[in-house]
Amino acid sequence: MITIHFSKVRWGEKDGRIRADDEGGARDLVAGGEAFTVVNGDLAGGGVEVDARSLSEAELERLTRRFATEIAILIGSENDIPAPDLGTNERVMAWIMDTISMHQGYSTPGVVTGKPVPIGGTLGRREATGRGVAVIARSILETAGQSLDGKTVAVQGFGNVGANAARSFESLGARIVAISDRSGGVYNPDGFDVAGAGDCQEELTNCGEHYQGERVTNAELLELPVDVLVPAAIEGQITEDNAARIRAKYVIEGANGPTTDAADAILADRGITVAPDILANAGGVIVSYFEWVQDFSRYFWDLGEVNRNMDRVLEQAYAEVESVSQRERVTLRTAALMLAVRRVTEAIKLRGFYP
Ligand code: NAD
Repeated sequence: MITIHFSKVRWGEKDGRIRADDEGGARDLVAGGEAFTVVNGDLAGGGVEVDARSLSEAELERLTRRFATEIAILIGSENDIPAPDLGTNERVMAWIMDTISMHQGYSTPGVVTGKPVPIGGTLGRREATGRGVAVIARSILETAGQSLDGKTVAVQGFGNVGANAARSFESLGARIVAISDRSGGVYNPDGFDVAGAGDCQEELTNCGEHYQGERVTNAELLELPVDVLVPAAIEGQITEDNAARIRAKYVIEGANGPTTDAADAILADRGITVAPDILANAGGVIVSYFEWVQDFSRYFWDLGEVNRNMDRVLEQAYAEVESVSQRERVTLRTAALMLAVRRVTEAIKLRGFYP
């Protein structure tokens, strides 16, 4: 079990994520920690080291409720609010909310986000992270005087983030030519009909008829000749060993920490634009924040309002990061970090120290 706590110095609530996975650990969650500072408040993370797929539903529910009880003193709708991540989903969030509500004696929907819509979840949360990845890619291409229309995209990881990113890229005119999950990937330069495959995701082997093409490994997928590469699985995928062979012009980080520091420097030297996780995958935390706001007011928005507000916040965050990047002549990642640190220090100065 891992829990990470962050400073709560900014005005927002803390949004954290709960992971149930046997791969990818604390650093991956920490990578998301700065993300929220770019857009709103602070973020924490926690998880259980387990392969959730090896558990029966009853075992997963018992594990989740026990974990929720253990962290009950840490989380709360005014305090630290978990959302789903690798290996967790709406079902798990519903159990956590129910467990905490049972302890309280009344319903506390704001204690977690990413809940099912009928019990206080928000429309658009499930798609938000992947959708945001495509929104950031569109903004970056616009800055370069281009559009996503006809651009080829490879997506590593076809779970919540990857599959929704693929759908969003496709709806913005791009062509998805490669996708993968933990079992490997498939490549078809003519592109797939992602919308036509419906909700088919996890695992690709179950919806293989929709995704015909050359089988590739996850490592090979990263090096395909595409315009846009979206690592949306786990951390540490682009390293100093393969960074020189990445052929995409744009890397949009859907996963947390998919690019190592050494690889980041190599990509920058090669003129490849990297949209850092802290910006590119922030759509999920932004809409989690909207869910929390709606839970408090007990007033729920329609999907158009959720998406419009998410696009606005993300596009503004990108514009600010881009402007720092231009002014300071640094990468988008460094610019985002500079902006985040500046906001936290500004908040500390304004609040002062007590006692
Ligand atoms: P998920 O469990 O829904 O999907 C993960 C996908 O990656 C699956 O297709 C899985 O088969 C694949 N995968 C797992 N291990 C792999 C490996 N070793 N190689 C290749 N593929 C592998 O998880 P998710 O919620 O989509 O999260 C994916 C990444 O995005 C994580 O890094 C997570 O921290 C990050 N993220 C998620 C959200 C969110 O809202 N869900 C928000 C921000 C960041």
